[in-house]
Amino acid sequence: MDAYQHILLAVDYSEHGDTVARKAKALAGKYQAKLSIIHVLDNISMPDTTYGTVIPLDKDSGYELLETEKSRLMQIGERLGVPLDNRWMIWGTPKQEIVELAEQQQVDLIVVGSHGRHGLSLLLGSTANSVLHYAKCDVLAIRLMNS
Ligand code: AMP
Repeated sequence: MDAYQHILLAVDYSEHGDTVARKAKALAGKYQAKLSIIHVLDNISMPDTTYGTVIPLDKDSGYELLETEKSRLMQIGERLGVPLDNRWMIWGTPKQEIVELAEQQQVDLIVVGSHGRHGLSLLLGSTANSVLHYAKCDVLAIRLMNS
């Protein structure tokens, strides 16, 4: 298999996110690939700012909720050694934004958890399933079990 060059990790801040992140980081190391991370804001309403849907991470928005979401992404980015330019926070629908960013940024592997915040009741969560369905690149769904 050709080496991956750009891996995109989708983070939803769910309880098993660390397992998914560690595997993405290990793969990026193995392939010496660029690692990017994305969190899609789908659970808070968009504050009335002049920003578009891509939230700048280097400016204070003045909105507490947005800043909390941002600092969680920043912590994950720091922990994984992902440069600021490769950290993405986008307002929208996770499945759509993940697939679109992957295309724009010429990602060749998307890493998601098999399940996220939406529970472990399905074999594959809805975001994971849609990303698998619509992405034009490879997708790795890290199997997460009930602990
Ligand atoms: P789900 O299909 O929603 O249970 O989530 C499965 C996986 O999709 C998660 O483990 C994440 O990797 C990714 N994901 C879900 N929601 C988001 C989100 N809001 N932002 C980024 N990634 C997400």
